[in-house]
Amino acid sequence: MKSIYGVTIKQLEQYFIDKKEGKFKATQVFEWLYKKKVTSFKDMKNVSHKTIDDLTKDYEIKPLKIITKKIGDDVAKYLFALDDNNKIEAVLMHHDYGESLCISTQVGCNMGCHFCESGRLKKIRNLTSDEMVRQILAVENDLKIRISHLVLMGIGEPFDNYDNVISFIDIINNPKGIDLGSRHITISTSGIVPKIKQFTEYDKQVNLAISLHAPNNKIRNSIMEINKAYPIEQLIEAVKQYVIKTKRRVTFEYIMLKDVNDSKENALELSNLLKGINCYVNLIPYNETSHIEYKKSNKEKIMQFYDVLKKNGINVTVRREFGSNVNAACGQLRSNYEEA
Ligand code: SAH
Ligand code: SF4
Repeated sequence: MKSIYGVTIKQLEQYFIDKKEGKFKATQVFEWLYKKKVTSFKDMKNVSHKTIDDLTKDYEIKPLKIITKKIGDDVAKYLFALDDNNKIEAVLMHHDYGESLCISTQVGCNMGCHFCESGRLKKIRNLTSDEMVRQILAVENDLKIRISHLVLMGIGEPFDNYDNVISFIDIINNPKGIDLGSRHITISTSGIVPKIKQFTEYDKQVNLAISLHAPNNKIRNSIMEINKAYPIEQLIEAVKQYVIKTKRRVTFEYIMLKDVNDSKENALELSNLLKGINCYVNLIPYNETSHIEYKKSNKEKIMQFYDVLKKNGINVTVRREFGSNVNAACGQLRSNYEEA
């Protein structure tokens, strides 16, 4: 049966129109689901018995099952079981500007980045839009908080599951529902160029982050398989077009891997590559994992890299290290769990 959490308000309006009922019912149902957060159709108090019966017949209303959680000072990490018992994870980060949730978009990932735990476990399937919505609700209900920011940086490649991701954003962005503002949502991609082009035409103001991680094809080919399909020149050209057409700033993520991509020369080459693009670079201290041999760059190396970019006029920040004590990097909780 279809989950009610995967239905957009337009689809729900159509559902009621088809039943010869007022489409305002869609708004009522959305408010019960996402403002009052009931988990049973029967609890929708101002909705008629007939409607409750119809909804019960046609839709499932089922929260995600939390298998384990690890709560740190400013981070909470969740492992969920989907209805078919596949496992995914989400990480909540507490910032002074709000609560930011990082969610998964696929079970596993086929992009095969060499440093990534999620890629080590191949893609089993895409997440449906309701499975993305339910990650938000599960964390909000568990911690009794309201999530203000969302990043699609958990397990999976969002642009390898484009349609479900877009319909998910439609659901959570609706003011009658969770009401997460577009500008507070960030999609991160390893660089699927045709999808970046498609996303350029998307009408919502959702942020785009590119996992660049290297200043040239030689290094990028050695750590990211996707670069062999869409090399850096094509990627940067697509991003430039995105920035021009949307007038939005783009983020480049750059994991600092010891002796792989962290030299002064690499920083200079990166500065030249990005010169003139409305962007900022987020330097990410690599989160080491027991299965993969890459090491993180030391602090001095990261600061030196930072200085070179700064001197060359590139906006740059170093990402605060969240929850390495709770295995917060992409895919780590799940992979540790499967082993145990
Ligand atoms: N597939 C998308 C989104 C999920 S990965 C993408 O690749 O952009 C989200 C981010 O986490 C990416 O920038 C990825 O390179 C990074 N990442 C993966 N493993 C990591 C690790 N062990 N430490 C730090 N960042 C990691
Ligand atoms: Fe997939 Fe992103 Fe991990 Fe690469 S970094 S394997 S694209 S999840």
